[in-house]
Amino acid sequence: MKRVPEPFRIKMVEPIRMTTAEERAAALKAAGFNPFALKSEDVYIDLLTDSGTGAMSDTQWAGVMMGDESYAGSRSYYRLKAAIDDIFGYPDFVPTHQGRGAEQILFPCLVEKMRQVRGGTHPVFLSNYHFDTTTAHVEICGAKAINLVDERAFDTAQPFSWKGNMDLEKLNQAIAHYGAENVAGIIMTITCNNTGGQPVAMANLKAVYELAKRYAIPVIMDSARFCENAWFIQQRDQQYRKASIQDIVAEMFRYADMLTLSAKKDPMVNIGGICAVRDDPELFQHVQSRCVPMEGFVTYGGMAGRDMEALARGLYDGLDQAWLTYRIKQVAYLASRLAEGGVPVQLPAGGHAVFVDARRLLPQIPPEQFPAQSLCNALYLEAGIRAVEIGSLLAGRDPVTGRQKPSPMEFMRLTIPRRVYTNDHMDYVADALIRVSQRAATLSGLVFEYEPPLLRHFMARFRPLG
Ligand SMILES: *Cc1c(COP(=O)(O)O)cnc(C)c1O
Repeated sequence: MKRVPEPFRIKMVEPIRMTTAEERAAALKAAGFNPFALKSEDVYIDLLTDSGTGAMSDTQWAGVMMGDESYAGSRSYYRLKAAIDDIFGYPDFVPTHQGRGAEQILFPCLVEKMRQVRGGTHPVFLSNYHFDTTTAHVEICGAKAINLVDERAFDTAQPFSWKGNMDLEKLNQAIAHYGAENVAGIIMTITCNNTGGQPVAMANLKAVYELAKRYAIPVIMDSARFCENAWFIQQRDQQYRKASIQDIVAEMFRYADMLTLSAKKDPMVNIGGICAVRDDPELFQHVQSRCVPMEGFVTYGGMAGRDMEALARGLYDGLDQAWLTYRIKQVAYLASRLAEGGVPVQLPAGGHAVFVDARRLLPQIPPEQFPAQSLCNALYLEAGIRAVEIGSLLAGRDPVTGRQKPSPMEFMRLTIPRRVYTNDHMDYVADALIRVSQRAATLSGLVFEYEPPLLRHFMARFRPLG
């Protein structure tokens, strides 16, 4: 596959250091065989996450110098407000410290609205797939998180253009099963992180919204990778082949009532988030009054003025056609090199990451011994590359029964930070992982030495078997 050259030149560099095999073995042991606990200085290529790890542009850095740090009514807040209204068409918003800040404010408001306005008593949220912090916040406010993604997403060998789509039949059944009055919200995650950064089709967004309106259920767009989703729509849906990314985004957000957004992803700032609402002043008032004690006064929320300024610019950086084409083709290039080298990956590749199918690569390791985590460790030992598990470890336990939740997939995610690594780095990663995969049969699983009660993957410690 052809490599697309970087549509930027580099003005500042950050040296990275290769470690020895002995150093890596000692570092991984000290980290309890959990890459989350590694020091970043012991990592050569860090593909743990694309969250907050992007490189800001010259325009964004210029914005940092222009930030207005006023407590109330900051100029930078109004710039950000204008950008959000222009891009999404949602005039009411609060800035939050990151995406989960928006979730912790909004979800309890939606549960209360469900009880008061629609008379529900047993709150559930329905989603194509809840992100991990999203599940946590749904559960913290006493609701259930139900995932209803199209099953085709889990067959990694079988390409399908829209592996982020909501299964509409399952959605209908779930509304009937739980009762429309109990559905506090429908959350559309774009792109769908857990199935591999996979896009949701415009037709699917539209159909979900129409169904939701029939039952007066609010739709929340979980929007971290809205630009990447729009690029996929432009490339894969004939109807949008000539549309601009910004026009596609504007249409996507007509099929929702509110959004939460982690600004650490597509808008390429290192910290920040947004909660925005349209056409619901009462709900927005509730959001604002929760924002003040949880995040901060309504015109800064969880953000410094300089960060709001960088975000206002980053929202437009993220929409750039040449940038998105390079970005997503860089990810596709890594996926194609791996596939050619015999490594099973989610196909087609997603927007922000390559998802390696550890279930297929390591059939000898059962899910409860975390095959993808074992693969992450082997890749780190091989080449100093840090990846992350998206499988049974991440799924965690059912909060009621305490049993391991079944996970439909065991992925190792190679997450590509934005504007940070070059195409040559992708070759280095591919070569290393192909070497590891050639001795996949010799890898074994892991058991817990320490298992935290909530979001366990971050702090867990393990003992390798065998
Ligand atoms: C990252 C992310 C979140 C949470 O945002 P944070 O900024 O990490 O708090 C929520 N949803 C999706 C889809 C995400 O990717």
